Amino acid sequence: MKTIGLLGGMSWESTLTYYRVINEGVKKRLGGLHSAKIVLYSVDFDPIEKLQHSGDWEGTANILSQAARQIETGGADFLLICTNTMHKVAESIAAAVTIPLVHVADATGEALRLAGLQRVGLLGTAFTMEEDFYKARLKETFGIDVLIPDEDDRRMVHEVIYKELCLGNINSASKQTFVEIVDRLAGQGAQGVILGCTEIGLLINQGDTMVPLYDTTLIHAGKAVDLALSEAMESKREAVSLPF
Ligand code: GLU
Repeated sequence: MKTIGLLGGMSWESTLTYYRVINEGVKKRLGGLHSAKIVLYSVDFDPIEKLQHSGDWEGTANILSQAARQIETGGADFLLICTNTMHKVAESIAAAVTIPLVHVADATGEALRLAGLQRVGLLGTAFTMEEDFYKARLKETFGIDVLIPDEDDRRMVHEVIYKELCLGNINSASKQTFVEIVDRLAGQGAQGVILGCTEIGLLINQGDTMVPLYDTTLIHAGKAVDLALSEAMESKREAVSLPF
């Protein structure tokens, strides 16, 4: 079994889900007392969130690159960044280590392609929904068109992520709002909706809507399990897509 590197803490609420889902996946596949081999570096999110919102992405990249190096030193065979948003600086983080980075948008694109979807909605932070680092990757690598909510809905989703979900507050009114936003995206032609923020699955899940949901936390964690248990992963660098 390979050792999974997790760069987490953004927020720790969603890193808990990664840790649980990965261990459940390994247990399901190997049985008994088997569990995942994980090197986790969990950052202090507060300074990172402040750097994000002041536009200092280089500052965030420096912190996360240093953490990624420590994960590699700790013995990880490959690396997951446990947040969609921080993939904005994925290239810098990947350049700081020699182990491969398993990009969340690639894992998600693979799942969407497997399901035969061509047009999907995207919920996430304003950075993820509005900037190109995520949507363009889905379009260019997988040919998937991405719809995002209107401005008011985007603001609402962004606020709920940082002011509720990252603090562990699950609010039923916010849940209802998110379900309505999912429905609106489907009404605009989305064949499914990406939960493109690792905390959104704490608020809504497939039981809340008929619209197919693609929870990036579950998809990314599942990909990690596949890679960790993959016999074919003889050469780490061949087994995962390495865009950088
Ligand atoms: N976990 C979130 C994401 O997947 C947002 C928190 C962050 O800014 O990293 O985008």
